[in-house]
Amino acid sequence: LLPFGVAAGLALGVAAFLMARRHMGMPALLRRALNKRELFLLYQPIVDLHNGRCIGAEALIRWRRADGSMVPPDVFIPVAEASGLIQRVTEQVLERVAADAGSLFADYPAFHIGINLAAADLQSTRTVELLDLLMRKTGAGAHNLLVEATERGLMDAAEVREVINAIHALGIEVAVDDFGTGYSSLSYLETFALDYLKIDKSFVDTLAIDAATSQVALHIIEMAKSLKLKMIAEGVETEAQARLLQERGVQFAQGWLFARPMTMAALREHMARQDAQ
Ligand code: C2E
Ligand code: CA
Ligand code: CA
Ligand code: CA
Repeated sequence: LLPFGVAAGLALGVAAFLMARRHMGMPALLRRALNKRELFLLYQPIVDLHNGRCIGAEALIRWRRADGSMVPPDVFIPVAEASGLIQRVTEQVLERVAADAGSLFADYPAFHIGINLAAADLQSTRTVELLDLLMRKTGAGAHNLLVEATERGLMDAAEVREVINAIHALGIEVAVDDFGTGYSSLSYLETFALDYLKIDKSFVDTLAIDAATSQVALHIIEMAKSLKLKMIAEGVETEAQARLLQERGVQFAQGWLFARPMTMAALREHMARQDAQ
């Protein structure tokens, strides 16, 4: 048994810690997570619908707290954006990709990794320097990377144009992410000479339900075709969706039907199994 004074002191210490934690908002917790490197990446395979083969993967960030609990990116990415921490998050994402990729691109020369960029990243030329650094560190070619930018990030501003132009100048292709979920005008599709359109899960969900509900999805596909954009459908969960997408001319897809986000080690096993087929 502890002497009373020590026990009381300990209890007070614990109480103070819990109170501090309650008062430590999400931005402070995230800042600490960045310092303690609690963020890591999972990779979700992207397949070619013609043959089902994995041709790339999207890097998806994860935050595991010291107590083992997970904070979903839908929760902390908006906090990072609002508190000015997002560029530090992106920097760690690019460092992680460099650390994870290892011999990936040497073994699979055509493989690409999709990287999510936030609005602030698209307004800073530092992002271009970091992408360039990533290529030099990993020996990746420009075709080994794909930048995913949301509609919201692709605003028509001089800074964004400069960054997108510089990314293209490196030879890296750009995808518009979550297409159709924002409210922006469509003019940016031509302004930025984008390469890929990612069809948001909310539209993929409507496919194969009935003809009426899938009209918007089908129009998005036709528009992408007329703009000569390559397409990646996200959130594909059923064979029926995959078949419909392929019939309509969508070449690439990702979703639980094919694979969930996984560690780089699991992705390497996934690729090795594919090689053995
Ligand atoms: P997103 O870029 O649209 O990523 C796709 C999300 O759909 C991922 O959620 C993925 O796990 C999920 N998903 C993929 N296939 C399926 C499926 O078949 N069914 C269902 N129900 N979900 C599927 P996740 O990993 O939770 O990421 C959520 C969002 O957080 C991302 O949406 C993206 O906006 C953001 N995010 C994730 N990683 C990063 C990052 O490194 N940087 C930035 N800036 N944002 C990130
Ligand atoms: Ca994305
Ligand atoms: Ca998306
Ligand atoms: Ca989405």
